[in-house]
Amino acid sequence: MPHLAGAPCGVCQQPLIGIRDGAFCPECEGPVHVVCARQSSEQYPAGICRRCGSSKLNSEKWRTSVAAYKAEDEAAEVADERTRALTHSLLGGLFIGLWTVITVVTVQVVKELIRWFRRRRKPTP
Ligand SMILES: [Zn+2]
Ligand SMILES: [Zn+2]
Repeated sequence: MPHLAGAPCGVCQQPLIGIRDGAFCPECEGPVHVVCARQSSEQYPAGICRRCGSSKLNSEKWRTSVAAYKAEDEAAEVADERTRALTHSLLGGLFIGLWTVITVVTVQVVKELIRWFRRRRKPTP
């Protein structure tokens, strides 16, 4: 999730420190200082959020950057998923290879044992 810290306040344009001094407006979803958030008013001109009094342009910019952040996050997740799938297939291949080697070796050992037993059973002249 994007942090409030560093987000520009929609009213004074100064960066927020964090959740202690700022919040996201439930109306325009823009970051705003708690102390800057004005009382809701129907008198605000277009472009000003009626709930917090911050510039809607600022909120719009913020939402765009959040969307970009989310897209970046999703892309990283997809890359992660691919790496995981590749690791799994590599491990799977390794496991199958190991299993084949073990099977072959076991068969050889059993064959050798059988031969050895047969040789021992033969009465020595
Ligand atoms: Zn402010
Ligand atoms: Zn607002």
